[in-house]
Amino acid sequence: MYVLDNAIGGKRAPSASARTAPVFNPATGEEIGAVPLSAIAEIDAAVENAKQAQPAWGNLTPAKRASVFFKFAEKLHKHGDEIAREISREHGKTHADALAEVARGVEIVEFACGIPHLLKGEYSRNVGPSIDSYSDRQPLGVVAGITPFNFPAMVPMWMYPLAIASGNAFVLKPSERDPSASLMCWELFMEAGLPPGILNIVQGDKVAVDAILDHKDIKAVSFVGSTPVAQHIYERGSKAGKRVQALGGAKNHMIVMPDADLDMAANALMGAGYGSAGERCMAITVAVPVGEKTADALIARMKPMVEQLKIGPSSDREAEMGPLITRAAQEKVKSYIDSGVAEGAELVVDGRNFSLQGYEDGFFVGGTLFDRVTPDMKIYQDEIFGPVLSTVRASSYEEAVQLIHNHQYGNGTAIFTRDGDTARAFASDIEVGMVGVNVPIPVPVAYHSFGGWKQSLFGDHSIYGPEGVHFYTRLKTVTSRWPSGVKEGAVFTFPSMK
Ligand code: NAD
Repeated sequence: MYVLDNAIGGKRAPSASARTAPVFNPATGEEIGAVPLSAIAEIDAAVENAKQAQPAWGNLTPAKRASVFFKFAEKLHKHGDEIAREISREHGKTHADALAEVARGVEIVEFACGIPHLLKGEYSRNVGPSIDSYSDRQPLGVVAGITPFNFPAMVPMWMYPLAIASGNAFVLKPSERDPSASLMCWELFMEAGLPPGILNIVQGDKVAVDAILDHKDIKAVSFVGSTPVAQHIYERGSKAGKRVQALGGAKNHMIVMPDADLDMAANALMGAGYGSAGERCMAITVAVPVGEKTADALIARMKPMVEQLKIGPSSDREAEMGPLITRAAQEKVKSYIDSGVAEGAELVVDGRNFSLQGYEDGFFVGGTLFDRVTPDMKIYQDEIFGPVLSTVRASSYEEAVQLIHNHQYGNGTAIFTRDGDTARAFASDIEVGMVGVNVPIPVPVAYHSFGGWKQSLFGDHSIYGPEGVHFYTRLKTVTSRWPSGVKEGAVFTFPSMK
């Protein structure tokens, strides 16, 4: 059994809190560690250290800051495999999936290496007689991030690299379910030359989160997690005068048009529906085949594939998906399957009784496929966050689109079709933040930005990419004139440059 530390002021700092939470190996069900649930005083200490360290870091040349990121990226590449193992141990996802998560996180660190270019302002000469103007993006000071369990390395990296590269100091509150990966990355960042106090990690739960939201010296908060908590973060953080971006849950639909390549669509649904046991905010959880013929053909392809899913612990390198994160998540997902059956959906593949020899106490649920799901059902309306794919049959493209428009979430969506007109209309009209055309998980690359619409994002900024730089900086515009220019007396009218 190991006990997690905090990291404050450049050092590992064992928590003084008497409260702890267990960390499990979800594949075996075994309790393997304990994470402290830090007290308000520990957030205060982290913020104080960040506040002391930030001005010197923020005043370094951006190129000097970038040099630390080049070294950090190199170390992440070198130690990616170890980080992935730790992610799999506490989260349960397959090793290949954990490696892919680390790779997507490193992409953001590499993007942050370009910070001198990203912070470049705009300049206009002669905005008035002998007057020039330029804009500058300056750091906010101390900023914070609160992250979910499902990407314990990547989602924190959606936040702290760009915040820190922009000249801020950062306080991270990782998920208490799989907290080790963040600490490993912190260690590598320190070895790369990050000054003490610029990245601080405080383990914890709602107590630490609310202390972040209320702290007067924290200027901005990034959050990724479930929608009810995202809404709480947005409301409480905004009320305390902070800039807030709070990314929430999802229910991502994939439309399959009659002209789609059905093998391609079925394979896409397998990966996007069951990869990481459906514990992804960009998982496809609703398949929407258009027309009965398309639906019948799709279900006929999917049924054997779901039945034959290779499910196992991350030590099994052949496994395609692993267990869920906790016993509570396992029970919740099974009860959703019960409710789908009770509400009259057709259960094509039932994952409730899945059991793996030698791993009987693991938090596994087998791949589950529903057909003839309708919009009034709970399994359609709620985010289940498990390996459960619902099929809603639509009679037309318009009906499929209407379904998506009526849903509370608007994170990701996809359409599978060979028709350019339909694809273009879909991409242009659909009320969802991230859209795939024959791409089931359209997570934007590091130099674009990630964000949903509707109940999937509270706040004005998407995360990482150019929007990330904007979120973590404030704009200053300077207008200057030198005395050798125009001579004029006192002017009492509003300045006009004509
Ligand atoms: P969660 O909301 O339970 O927890 C997220 C964070 O909030 C954790 O650090 C947790 O400690 C903290 N927290 C939990 N309850 C809290 C409360 N009442 N008050 C204050 N803080 C609280 O989410 P999770 O279960 O860790 O992650 C899964 C969820 O995250 C899913 O809904 C998924 O869709 C979502 N998610 C969204 C995105 C996205 O980009 N939109 C990405 C990844 C995950």
